[in-house]
Amino acid sequence: MSSKRIALYILLLTTFVACSSAPITANRLSCDSIPEGAQRLIAAYPDHVVGYEDNMIIFSDGSRMIYDDGKKRTIDEMHLEQDVEEIFFQEYDKGVYPPPYGYDPGRYRCAAFYGKIYGNTREEVAQNLVYVNWCPKHGAQPVLFTKVAGAAEALQRVSDELDEYPELKEWVLNAQTFNWRTIQGMKRLSPHGYGIAIDLEAYRSHYWKWTYPRAEEHAVMKYHNTFNMKVVEIFERHGFIWGGRWYHFDTMHFEYRPEMNMPEYGIKATTPKVITAKKPDPKLERRFYYKVFKEHKHGNYEEQLRAEFYSRVFKTTYHE
Ligand SMILES: [Zn+2]
Repeated sequence: MSSKRIALYILLLTTFVACSSAPITANRLSCDSIPEGAQRLIAAYPDHVVGYEDNMIIFSDGSRMIYDDGKKRTIDEMHLEQDVEEIFFQEYDKGVYPPPYGYDPGRYRCAAFYGKIYGNTREEVAQNLVYVNWCPKHGAQPVLFTKVAGAAEALQRVSDELDEYPELKEWVLNAQTFNWRTIQGMKRLSPHGYGIAIDLEAYRSHYWKWTYPRAEEHAVMKYHNTFNMKVVEIFERHGFIWGGRWYHFDTMHFEYRPEMNMPEYGIKATTPKVITAKKPDPKLERRFYYKVFKEHKHGNYEEQLRAEFYSRVFKTTYHE
């Protein structure tokens, strides 16, 4: 299928589902007058986003947020501030690979919107973290993820599927999820802070800032990826986007973003149920990080691992 046909398919599908399954409220206008992005948010987060009116998206608690503030921002400005509309600045298209210059679909996250959905403080986010029983057949450890908007359930479905492929063990064993931190080199909160992102096998993945430590946002870089594409395919089928589709490649990174990646997800979100799994074994984790430190000592990467290591060992980011 051509990308135009795919785009049309997405549009038709989202329009159909948004119109047929989203709650009809007095505030809702006909689908024709609702921007596609707003329709997607209504379909992807039905427990939170219930309508749209007069350039405002309407939340289930009755509060409203401006959809399009009318400002035309540059890329640099969008990294500092975004409105809701700019979430959809670029279409997440699996046919665009390797990612061309500047193509980072899903990397522009409206902090106000995701803060409203998942929490604006570490404490707010932490209240909704649950343990997902991450790849138990592969011998992996449970990981923390938010139960909001069906995220933990989606990750559990990914895990159940990954568990069925013994050959994928080496790609899923070491996982990092919740971490209240900013994105490296930026002031913005990382999606790991919302408990919607998981990094797999960091020590043999590629991140543009590790490959090119001195590169700025506008630098021209060569794309690197050696990640297992079967793993990518499974994640994408369950509402996740992959950092390997970005020009600013981050191939270990998977992020729950059903509004960006909806056809495969089917855009039906279920009411989240609490998932119970046992807690990770701190001894095993310590052993892993010690091994990583011994084997891979270089640059910012080491700093990053050290931060994650301490936050894990001393449980500074754990919701007990
Ligand atoms: Zn990540």
